[in-house]
Amino acid sequence: MTATILDGKALSKTIRAEIAEDVAKFTKQTGITPCLAAVLIGEDPASQIYVRNKERACKKAGIESRMHRLPVETTTEELLNLIGRLNNDQAVHGILVQLPLPAGIDEQRVLDAVRPTKDVDAFHPENVGLISQGRPRFLPCTPHGIQQLLIRNGVELSGANVVVLGRSDIVGKPMALMLMQKADGANATVTVAHSRTKNLADVTRSADILIVAMGVAKFVTADMVKPGAVVVDVGINRTDDGLVGDVDFDAVKEVAGRITPVPGGVGPLTVTMLLHNTLAGARGRGKGERGRGML
Ligand code: NDP
Repeated sequence: MTATILDGKALSKTIRAEIAEDVAKFTKQTGITPCLAAVLIGEDPASQIYVRNKERACKKAGIESRMHRLPVETTTEELLNLIGRLNNDQAVHGILVQLPLPAGIDEQRVLDAVRPTKDVDAFHPENVGLISQGRPRFLPCTPHGIQQLLIRNGVELSGANVVVLGRSDIVGKPMALMLMQKADGANATVTVAHSRTKNLADVTRSADILIVAMGVAKFVTADMVKPGAVVVDVGINRTDDGLVGDVDFDAVKEVAGRITPVPGGVGPLTVTMLLHNTLAGARGRGKGERGRGML
């Protein structure tokens, strides 16, 4: 059996076209151009690429992007100052602080300083709390992209056994929170696994849908996957063989029913959902409008 590919690149193109149309309508009606302010500190090559991709995607969707590049020796106070200015700038609807921040900067303080109504990454504790209670303002970009990929490919989430491998604040934890909600496009039975999980292969083999966000190249092997399962690979690992995911794609695709490739799976959708959130921010998501995914 060879798995069907869940094509994140193609879906991303479709959703970006929808967003571009919505942005054009919104701007025509209101005279407001949605604007994302991105903050990049230091010279990390991967971060430079991510930020450039985000800038390009904004431009194509009719969203203004403002880049703030700061030197690696920037202090926490200087960064907090900039965030404060962006919080108060009426023309800015979304603020993105590219991670990881250089050592020496207090990441928690910086992320907590972003005004929740402009927090398009949904990292602020207020936004995480709202997600947990099932009334999100913004949904975090990578998990939202994955949810859309599953829904729009007709993967049944209600009642499905989902295993999320990884419990980071950026991917694993919010993914689990979102899929366990009593809501359309959710209602799954979710298990979260991590480095202390016992009999990990038994746990992953119980999954109808296995979502892997570990950062360990080709960790998930064919024997860890239930035949016919849906496998979503979030990992991005730079190796001598090029870019690979956390899943041993060639072997697992012979067991899984559907699988995301790396690259071309989850990655493009993450940027797409950032565009979605920036438009939502411009629409006044912060003024009490209840957030929704794009179900
Ligand atoms: P983190 O490093 O923050 O978290 C990794 C998680 O995997 C942790 O919960 C850790 O467990 C768990 N883990 C690590 N090793 C093992 C192991 N041997 N067995 C079981 N569990 C393990 O990673 P992120 O969530 O931030 O990122 C994960 C991957 O996804 C990375 O490759 C990253 O580059 C990629 N990524 C891709 C995005 C995209 O747009 N496609 C967006 C964000 C991330 P413990 O908590 O116990 O330490």
